[in-house]
Amino acid sequence: MEKQRIVILGAGESGVGAAILAQKQGFDVFVSDFGAIAERYKETLVELNIAFEEKQHTVASIINANEVIKSPGIADSVAIIRELKKKNIPVISEIEFAKRYTTAKTICITGSNGKTTTTMLTYHILKKAGLNVGLAGNIGHSFAAQVATESFDWYVLEISSFMLDDMYEFRADIAVLLNITPDHLDRYDYKMTNYAASKMRIVQNQRPEDHFIFCADDDETLKVLKSTKVNSQKCPFSIRKKIEGGAYLEGNNIHINVNPKDNLTMSISELALQGKHNIYNSMASGIVAKVLDIRNATIRESMGDIKNIEHRLEHVAKISGVDYINDSKATNVNSTWYALESVNTDVILIMGGVDKGNDYDMLKDLVKQKVKAIVCLGKNNKRIHEAFEDDVEVIVNTFSAHEAVQVAYHLATKGNTVLLSPACASFDLFKNYEDRGNQFKMAVKEL
Ligand code: ADP
Repeated sequence: MEKQRIVILGAGESGVGAAILAQKQGFDVFVSDFGAIAERYKETLVELNIAFEEKQHTVASIINANEVIKSPGIADSVAIIRELKKKNIPVISEIEFAKRYTTAKTICITGSNGKTTTTMLTYHILKKAGLNVGLAGNIGHSFAAQVATESFDWYVLEISSFMLDDMYEFRADIAVLLNITPDHLDRYDYKMTNYAASKMRIVQNQRPEDHFIFCADDDETLKVLKSTKVNSQKCPFSIRKKIEGGAYLEGNNIHINVNPKDNLTMSISELALQGKHNIYNSMASGIVAKVLDIRNATIRESMGDIKNIEHRLEHVAKISGVDYINDSKATNVNSTWYALESVNTDVILIMGGVDKGNDYDMLKDLVKQKVKAIVCLGKNNKRIHEAFEDDVEVIVNTFSAHEAVQVAYHLATKGNTVLLSPACASFDLFKNYEDRGNQFKMAVKEL
């Protein structure tokens, strides 16, 4: 019998991982990337003798696929994807593909903000509890590559909406939806309903024995839930109201009561990850841990000793009485709101970059209260000027992390905080948000 042909579009971490697994499973594999493939990935493909092309998509070599695995970065509107869909060739994500070849159970974490933090925290707790657990998805090492080479019992997966869009049969044993706030709307016809529907795919195919953990304070989640059938056990969390079968905040204490015989109560002062948003993230991770019957002492210890996660409200230095914080991962308005909310001093806010159709209104009150000056960092920040010119006296443009830090340094006085929390993507001046955060940190260290 002729081998089934799998074509993989995009040779990044997920694409090359999928290629490794597909080859191991005996498929005829072809990898195509419209851009240049990074050297390390090219080496892997050559070493494994996997056919590939770069800087082009040769339609004839792609259109004869039985199935296509596409990188989450490729939009459905791209010509080659339209062509594939016209011909009814299934297009799936690496996560969908990899799940077919593992019996490991999955904890899938999605949301507009907090995914990485909650994924890391959950993984940290499970690891400390001694579970045989892997970490994959939008974070770190490809899920498919791990399925090809490891044998974990559990995976904690960070799942983006772009991944969910190409997942059909996948079933999460535990699904976590942190929140739904505007992001990536350019990929969803600028409609929140489309974006919310994409996020809700996290519960598709779930069964009554599975769990769905979600934020009961999030309006968009509650809205979309009204029209979504959820078959699994619902575990809400809230900082505003008392919850049964989930988690809630009362005074300074988090209560997790998902497991009535074994409730957990812990003070938010015990959390290593501070800020209001991290109360939510901790409640979500705590519910996962209690669903898995992890001991309270282990959960408490893990939540207390997890290290601050790079580029997320990361404290860089205190110089002449001024704190410098790197929140480069804040690539949308909502995450910048939480960053500003968590700072208790006057702020010099470094923000800007590639605007994704942002609505800055929700930042206005906090900006008026806390922000002394805005240092724009990016090629074109006209919309930030328009949004805040009536609220802050100083708004200046800068075009490198070094320049932004120098300007902020001169504007800041003792007791202030210089906060890089851009609310925008980084691609105009930087390779990615990590590069932006690293350049910021370097510039601070040079002060
Ligand atoms: P993601 O992986 O979803 O982009 P991260 O965990 O990397 O989220 O956090 C990105 C930024 O979003 C953080 O720097 C913080 O400012 C903000 N943030 C984190 N958790 C939350 C949350 N639960 N709600 C709102 N904002 C959050």
